[in-house]
Amino acid sequence: MEPRLAEILERVRSARGRVVALTGAGISAESGIPTFRGAEGYWVVGSRNYMPTEMATHEMFEAHPGEVWRWYLMRFGVCRHAQPNAGHHALADLDHALGDRFHLVTQNIDGLHLRAGATLARTSHIHGDAGWVRCASACTGELFPMPDMGERGEDTPFTAADRARLSCPRCGGWLRPHVLWFDECYDEEHYRMQTALRAAATADLLLVVGTSGATNLPSQIGDIAWRRGIAMVDVNPEDNPFAARALSMRQGFAVRGGAGERLPAIVRALVDG
Ligand code: NAD
Repeated sequence: MEPRLAEILERVRSARGRVVALTGAGISAESGIPTFRGAEGYWVVGSRNYMPTEMATHEMFEAHPGEVWRWYLMRFGVCRHAQPNAGHHALADLDHALGDRFHLVTQNIDGLHLRAGATLARTSHIHGDAGWVRCASACTGELFPMPDMGERGEDTPFTAADRARLSCPRCGGWLRPHVLWFDECYDEEHYRMQTALRAAATADLLLVVGTSGATNLPSQIGDIAWRRGIAMVDVNPEDNPFAARALSMRQGFAVRGGAGERLPAIVRALVDG
């Protein structure tokens, strides 16, 4: 490990510091789940190509609920078949080793952190979780487990039976995926916004993994770390705004590499014994 990185981690370890890990789509890339920046994300509706930033919106759901569901069902199938990788397991080890001194803020909806053993109470899914659905007209805030929709490919049509399975058990209207859409706001009830900000406000180390920093709450968490002058380590094979920010900080470091390859050693350095 680079000596400067080892020094930063040792300082946090010996002070029994609090750690917040902020993860994005990149940590699941080694599990075979495409990130949004890859070309894999787009979807054709009618004769037009739509990018994820257009598909994953309330506006699109209002106009084409079946098409939006068809896109999600294909993506959710990829998540269901994926397995947690060494990066997810390393963060679950850190969660167990640090207990209440650890909090995980993830943008991922794929469920791989929990499947690797992360503690739910110490995990904020700030963009939701593909394992759950809720009423699209918010007749209730209750979450329901995602119904079993069978195996789906890109060309699987959306049928009347699918529509029936995706009906709210209370009002009969559409169920929606329990995910934050690009034209919606963060909140505490569904997305644990305040919990994530509170964790950042008391952290001694922000460990950022596999995110391009394009979304608002992750950027705010980076701002908090910068203003408080805590330690900040970014793990990403590519340059990104978090790496630039970390490099501008006294206790900052940018690790150029994949999460599965680099996180296990970083976690070992943060754990006693
Ligand atoms: P992004 O797609 O914008 O960026 C992914 C980042 O991961 C890039 O910076 C890339 O360089 C990096 N990366 C690629 N391979 C990596 C690896 N092996 N190890 C570490 N980093 C790696 O992702 P984002 O910033 O998370 O924002 C996109 C939005 O879409 C978020 O809401 C995200 O959660 C969501 N999304 C989620 C999933 C998922 O649940 N797995 C997949 C795609 C998109």
